[in-house]
Amino acid sequence: MRRLPIYFLIDASESMIGEPIEQVQNGMRTIIQDLRVDPYALETVFVSVIAFAGKAQNLSPLTELYKFYPPTLPIGGGTSLGTAMNYLMDDLDKSIQKTTTEVKGDWKPIIFLFTDGTPTDDYKAAFDRWNSKYKRSCNLVAISIGDNVNTQMLGQISDNVLRLKDTDAESFSKFFKWVTASIKTTSVSVTDCGTDDIQLAPTTGINLEKVDTTKACKIDENFAVLLGKCQTTGKNYLIKYAKRIKPLGIEGLEGFNCMDFKLVGAYPVDNESYKALSQEGSTNRNINTAELVGVPTCPCCGNQLGLVVCECGNVFCVGEESHNKCPWCGLEGELSAIGAGGADVNRSRG
Ligand SMILES: [Zn+2]
Ligand SMILES: [Zn+2]
Repeated sequence: MRRLPIYFLIDASESMIGEPIEQVQNGMRTIIQDLRVDPYALETVFVSVIAFAGKAQNLSPLTELYKFYPPTLPIGGGTSLGTAMNYLMDDLDKSIQKTTTEVKGDWKPIIFLFTDGTPTDDYKAAFDRWNSKYKRSCNLVAISIGDNVNTQMLGQISDNVLRLKDTDAESFSKFFKWVTASIKTTSVSVTDCGTDDIQLAPTTGINLEKVDTTKACKIDENFAVLLGKCQTTGKNYLIKYAKRIKPLGIEGLEGFNCMDFKLVGAYPVDNESYKALSQEGSTNRNINTAELVGVPTCPCCGNQLGLVVCECGNVFCVGEESHNKCPWCGLEGELSAIGAGGADVNRSRG
């Protein structure tokens, strides 16, 4: 039997925290449930999941459908697409059965790449490697989640670049049905016709559009994410803010806008898996707390102030105690209010 390998290469960078990563997690589950009751898919489909942020990690090696269980997606700092592509190619070398004179190998692998951000690493060498050795023997479908992705860059490695325009629950749910339908039609086409070029399902009624990658695109950075450490438990958490553009509201300055970042939420992250998936080193990108609207409570211990900035530039949580110790650098002191100018904090890699 010839296998139809399906890879999910999933961006698990910090900006995905909260609803997007939950939606992708749910989506994986429904894809698998739907495919399992499809006789064609059940016969041919094998699934693998690779997550990437600053680093890449294989969460599930190529597994036949009935044995596959969707893994829990971790979160990390950075969006190392070059690293992720190299990781994928190494895995393809290991896992894909090539056709020889004796055996008929696997069908063309299908790779669904989901990403919501701009690469933070140098991806050029990886893209060259992909284009010279892998592109023709794989079906890569690149999906931009939201409008913060350089789709022109994705066009360098894929002829199928699509953008999921909205990221609400319903858009995600329809999108994952589309992924499932595309896998089903391809598994029928390999079985009945022996052709393994991907058959993408129609996108009508879905918030998904095919992108013309010859055109330059405007990239909007929609989120600011800060890494906090809980003073009580020592655990890490991420604080996510969404960018807002609104009118300045000053007479005579109509047409001028101002920008700030509104709190989306604060989410605990597992220290170990976060570290394992994160790019090392500081980002050298700052954001001023004066631009941030809303302060979360600590998602780890419930402390009232989840965003207190130490002199070291890092964020931690503070409760009712007046004496506090920064869990990052150990500095101790009595908490005094941050001045009107705000404080600069390190931004995560996103
Ligand atoms: Zn805390
Ligand atoms: Zn400190």
